Amino acid sequence: MGAGRFAPSPSGELHLGNLRTAILAWLFARSTHRTFLMRVEDLDRARAGAESLQLADLAAMGLSWDGEIVRQSERSELYAQAISDLRIRGLLYECFCTRRDIAEASSAPHGAPGTYPGTCRNLTEADQAAKRELRPSALRLRTEVDSFTVHDELHGSYTGVVDDFVVLRNDEVPAYNLAVVVDDGAQNIDQVVRGDDLLSSAPRQSYLAQLLGYQPPTYAHVPLALNAEGRRLAKRDGAVTLAQLAASGINVESARAMILTSLGLPTGSLQEALTAFDPALLPTDPWVFSTDPNAVGTGKPIGWPS
Ligand code: GLU
Repeated sequence: MGAGRFAPSPSGELHLGNLRTAILAWLFARSTHRTFLMRVEDLDRARAGAESLQLADLAAMGLSWDGEIVRQSERSELYAQAISDLRIRGLLYECFCTRRDIAEASSAPHGAPGTYPGTCRNLTEADQAAKRELRPSALRLRTEVDSFTVHDELHGSYTGVVDDFVVLRNDEVPAYNLAVVVDDGAQNIDQVVRGDDLLSSAPRQSYLAQLLGYQPPTYAHVPLALNAEGRRLAKRDGAVTLAQLAASGINVESARAMILTSLGLPTGSLQEALTAFDPALLPTDPWVFSTDPNAVGTGKPIGWPS
């Protein structure tokens, strides 16, 4: 059997929405008898101290994981190897575009928003040499498809755009899309559970996985937690981290109970929730969470224990 994982970016404390995704990843993995791995995605946006706070909160929720924690910052060799493999196969090219260049080009009549229009794909050697004088290049994948289909437990068969995405940034940091694929492959992860904001990245990642010789994983992109205004839950939304909740008198057990209730699961323990867990019964709508007593509805904050 393979493995599932939770892969937080240590950019700050986890909020209830992140913790809910972590619990779901654990439930999906454990209910399918997979191991459950913890990977810290600290190539980017890492903030001092955030990793230990995040891991402490995950443990406080009752989550346990198998084996050592893996940190992306300790795996540069692996990413370099994958990049070199792709480069030797002629599958990479240098890109000198700025964000602005891309925004302008992809808003042109034939460009699809959010996708790379291929500006640097066929530069001559001379063009490249001239551009290298001006700015450092990123490396992009020379894709041979426009789209790719993945299987998602909650979304079914999902087909999405695969453009020439970046694998090595122009500051020489491996791009998220490369690192995640290399790690999932190297760690034998065959089940990826995460927020549905990443659903549109799954086709790119699966395509790259199979280029690198890995079997693409099966996915479950779970609905995000939203605030009372319907926007993605964030720390400025009030008491949304365990520490903030504790300060307003809500202990970890109650916080976990709110999450499990939102998933339609029994709240006694994670084990009890695991016994009852059935992906087919999961709510498919986002979880609207608010600690504002004047929030929509009957005056009782949404998501709070009754
Ligand atoms: N590190 C990413 C995040 O925290 C998740 C990546 C993934 O699960 O593939 O948003």
